[in-house]
Amino acid sequence: MTQAADRLQLVRDRIAAAAKAAGRDPASVTLVAVSKGRSAAAVEQLIVAGQRDFGENRVQEAQEKWPTLRARYPGVRLHEIGQLQSNKAAEATALFDVIHSIDRLTLIDALAKAERRPDLYVQVNIGAEDQKGGCAIADVPALVAAVRDRGLPLLGLMAIPPLGFEPAPFFALLAKLAWREGLSGLSMGMSSDYRAAVMLGATCVRVGSALFDD
Ligand SMILES: *Cc1c(COP(=O)(O)O)cnc(C)c1O
Repeated sequence: MTQAADRLQLVRDRIAAAAKAAGRDPASVTLVAVSKGRSAAAVEQLIVAGQRDFGENRVQEAQEKWPTLRARYPGVRLHEIGQLQSNKAAEATALFDVIHSIDRLTLIDALAKAERRPDLYVQVNIGAEDQKGGCAIADVPALVAAVRDRGLPLLGLMAIPPLGFEPAPFFALLAKLAWREGLSGLSMGMSSDYRAAVMLGATCVRVGSALFDD
């Protein structure tokens, strides 16, 4: 059985190696530990090992799990990585420091009315899949403009490549779309492909199973 601290070190080492291979500074990549479905005890092991950024995909689960942990570990930063309904926007801004799933105008308008202003990523449906979150590639410029118009802090673009395909071309495409919009943030890469994502410019990788499972 591996320990949380060992898994964390391994993922950090692999991120650093991929960054160096691509001539990038490893410190330019934020590791978000995806803790959806994980117990508070499992999360705490990673916090104690030094992890600070965590991702959840449901507002309600995060509301149940995180207030106690955050009171104990004030340096923690929470990321919303799942689909967000506009009617949950105010609750989400109260809890999350970063929201990775901006994919429509109504959500942007709801966030603009909220008191707190988390950093945002526009999510792109990079493989043009039915049933997948994210905006169409053609809608990226309009959504980026809408976030900027409302003065919300925009970090970049986020995507999940389609299952069953080589992910690297989709990472490269997301990087190109971000570059066109003058955005430097790229939230891409999960347990199976975060090294490729880092080599192609990811500034944020979202890793779940590689950090939590033995
Ligand atoms: C669950 C999830 C991840 C993490 O997936 P793993 O394969 O467990 O690393 C990353 N991003 C999003 C949006 C997720 O929902």
